[in-house]
Amino acid sequence: MNIILLGPPGAGKGTQAELIEKNRKMVQLSTGAMLRAAVKAGSEIGKKADAIMKSGGLVSDDIVIGIIDERIDEPDCKDGFILDGFPRTLPQAAALDELLKKKGKSLDAVVEIKVDDGALVDRISGRYSCAKCGAGYHDTNLKPKQAGVCDKCGSTEFTRRADDNAETVKNRLMSYYRETAPLLGYYYAKGQLKSVDGMAHIDEVTRQIDQALG
Ligand code: ADP
Ligand code: ADP
Ligand code: ZN
Repeated sequence: MNIILLGPPGAGKGTQAELIEKNRKMVQLSTGAMLRAAVKAGSEIGKKADAIMKSGGLVSDDIVIGIIDERIDEPDCKDGFILDGFPRTLPQAAALDELLKKKGKSLDAVVEIKVDDGALVDRISGRYSCAKCGAGYHDTNLKPKQAGVCDKCGSTEFTRRADDNAETVKNRLMSYYRETAPLLGYYYAKGQLKSVDGMAHIDEVTRQIDQALG
């Protein structure tokens, strides 16, 4: 099964993708994580993306489409993938349709995680992750079982994203409403959109997604 998780920054896409990946034979494809890796590695793509990501804008369609086009061909994607953070513009959505067709693959569902705007800043400013395995946490909403120790891998090192600050969040929300929100209409019209209540507890959101996927 191949799906898209749609929602504003901080909605819980990454959190849910991590859980779906654990419960089903599917792999999480986060363009944000891939771009952050490119920035860290100092690659050509990373150099182009760095400043844009810091400001909260969107990296060019060509770059992210190219990344996804290649990534979907990897063997671990053959049983299914969860797109987290892609597509984010109508041209990206159209390109995705094309490249899936070309590869003989299809999209099974687009799941919208609905969250009140007022909750997003808190979710983003409290977000951090394990520096070793990438598991996501939150200062108050999702703490490791043992303080300072990652549940998944036992690491004691954690990181916060450079763009997870109140100033950048405003621009990211603006990018979302300007460029990404139209995708809700696009997928609704194609009969592929399902919505879940992203304000619910993390486990309840997972349950609703499971139900939506059938
Ligand atoms: P996204 O990938 O959509 O940007 P994340 O999955 O990183 O969002 O979630 C943002 C922050 O909110 C994380 O710190 C996460 O632990 C927390 N979070 C995710 N889902 C929920 C939820 N349903 N209720 C409360 N906090 C949540
Ligand atoms: P979020 O928590 O906002 O969902 P992501 O990790 O998905 O964050 O993305 C972080 C940043 O990476 C975005 O603000 C944007 O600059 C860039 N980015 C990620 N995916 C895309 C995409 N599909 N198109 C353009 N830019 C992207
Ligand atoms: Zn870890």
